[in-house]
Amino acid sequence: MAEKNKKNFLKKEIIAWVILIIILFSVSTFFGRNSGAPVATVPYSEFIDRVNSGDVTSVEIKMKENYPSQVIGTLKDGSFIDSYPPGNIDTLEKDLIEKGVTYDVNPSNNTFWMIFWNIAPWILIIGVWWFFMQKMMQGAGGGANQAFSFGKSKAKLFLDNKPRVTFKDVAGVEEVKEELKEIIEFLKNPKKFAQFGAKIPKGVLLLGPPGCGKTLIARAVAGEAKVPFFSVSGSEFVEMFVGVGASRVRDLFKQAKTYGPCIIFIDEIDAVGRHRGAGIGGGHDEREQTLNQLLVEMDGFDPHTGIIVMAATNRPDILDTALLRPGRFDRRIVVGLPTSKDREEILKVHGKKKTFAKEVNFKSIAQQTPGFTGADLENLLNEAALLAIRKNKKEISQQEIEEAVDKVIAGPEKKSLILSEEEKRAVAIHETGHAIVNTALPTGDIVHRISVVSRGMALGYNLQLPERDKYLQKKSELMNKISALLGGRAAEEVMLHETSTGAANDLERATDIARKMVRTYGMSDKLGPITFGKHNEMIFLGKELGEERDYSETTANLIDAEVKKIIETSYEKAKLLIEKQLNTVMTITNALLEKETLQGEELKKYLSLVKKEKKRIAKKHSKRISTSS
Ligand code: ADP
Ligand code: MG
Ligand code: ZN
Repeated sequence: MAEKNKKNFLKKEIIAWVILIIILFSVSTFFGRNSGAPVATVPYSEFIDRVNSGDVTSVEIKMKENYPSQVIGTLKDGSFIDSYPPGNIDTLEKDLIEKGVTYDVNPSNNTFWMIFWNIAPWILIIGVWWFFMQKMMQGAGGGANQAFSFGKSKAKLFLDNKPRVTFKDVAGVEEVKEELKEIIEFLKNPKKFAQFGAKIPKGVLLLGPPGCGKTLIARAVAGEAKVPFFSVSGSEFVEMFVGVGASRVRDLFKQAKTYGPCIIFIDEIDAVGRHRGAGIGGGHDEREQTLNQLLVEMDGFDPHTGIIVMAATNRPDILDTALLRPGRFDRRIVVGLPTSKDREEILKVHGKKKTFAKEVNFKSIAQQTPGFTGADLENLLNEAALLAIRKNKKEISQQEIEEAVDKVIAGPEKKSLILSEEEKRAVAIHETGHAIVNTALPTGDIVHRISVVSRGMALGYNLQLPERDKYLQKKSELMNKISALLGGRAAEEVMLHETSTGAANDLERATDIARKMVRTYGMSDKLGPITFGKHNEMIFLGKELGEERDYSETTANLIDAEVKKIIETSYEKAKLLIEKQLNTVMTITNALLEKETLQGEELKKYLSLVKKEKKRIAKKHSKRISTSS
């Protein structure tokens, strides 16, 4: 069917060319005689004389409204003369016949061309105007265009000749690819499935946080199956004119049906797919009409035509349940955050076009970037490349990539920010505190980098990551995490007997965890395994929209008391650890002040002091117990 469209287009082009050639041809014949040799205009009497004297070989007589208006003679030497006869050319004709000169009369020509040349400029002007209007509307993209093409779907068509995305460009997400293989098989050969009477899902919904490759995967499915791909964004259906969305949906499906096996991809479907009845206007607003039309279309087409509707969203919680019923988006695939292995693969895919130094270790970068999405990793490599260019290097080294990690996580370095010696020392102690508590705790994260170079909003910086991706956290681990977050503050208090504003963000994060422990995870002994408050949360975006309080004032007080207890216990623990490690704190703080950033082997060496000290204390302690008993 794609062929048919191409043919249509070809036909139009040919017609345009033919018309152009005809016009050019007519114009050239019209000017034909005058365009070659110059024409000398002579008095009519002289014209007759020349004919009589035998100079003229042929004559053309031009008529205008049945009167001869011009006579053009061709001379023996090939040049022309012309003249304007006085209304009657009987004598001329007689002479011509007598002398045997051929002559020709073209009577109608003139009127036709006169009319033509009268209207031609107008045709030209209108044409040019139309052309520019068209351009302008396309340029405006939004408003003006729609005024003329309300109902047309804006689906973009990615046809075969475009560079295609395939599964090779999608790294990791093996299970997702596995799930989609069946769909690809079906698109390649829908008849086979029909023969066996097998039912294939009409709709596939991709769920997951932004930047994890949902759009990329949908395009890759089309690329693998080598079928046309209609892509439209949910928000494009929602226009200010009532009924436009619905008619766009209709048009989109109509278009797709003429293409046989193909994919319709609705990106960010939550824009149209929200729960019905949630809008203003009592349940008949524009969006609902659009959604209803979408449901109708999805029910309407025959599954064996080979159309698959794919959609993506990061807000599945707000989707209308009707969309998820059988026969609609009944295949749901979660595209989650990449694992450490996936991240390594993604880095490799995006690193293909860049030159790296030999020592670059994608595995270690992958370990340093938990929580990064595919889009983040792409951005990370780009930042690294920019840094390398800025440093005039020929290739990207590990150092640039690590710097880019810090930049992406914490913001760019602030070289202009100048701290006093005292402030710098406080920042160093604070960061050392985090690192030491983290290392001393049994479940603490691994500290990859500590720095007193300020970045973004933070004065110091501390990159600590879990050993592996964690999906489940124990109560003890959460408590330890709070201790580690408060480690900076604890070090400040122990070493400087003073607290500062530098810990505000740490405190916020620690309190947040403690609150969740009590209210969401049911980890408080006093309150028991009950959740408190209904949370309205965007699951993939991790943003809390609001809370509905479903408990009494007394319980609220209890919750506050429990949260406070958790924080205080963790803080005491952090302080105790620091007090036991005074020597190590001093050593690492001094090293940090000197070097500004500690990482890699060097940092490992310093942090091993923490473990040594811990062992020494434990030994001393046990000795004391054994001697005292
Ligand atoms: P989403 O639609 O989930 O928000 P996108 O598909 O738009 O995410 O992904 C954004 C970009 O991130 C992609 O263009 C791609 O370059 C990169 N990306 C995301 N996931 C992957 C992946 N698994 N493999 C390779 N690149 C990826
Ligand atoms: Mg997307
Ligand atoms: Zn801190």
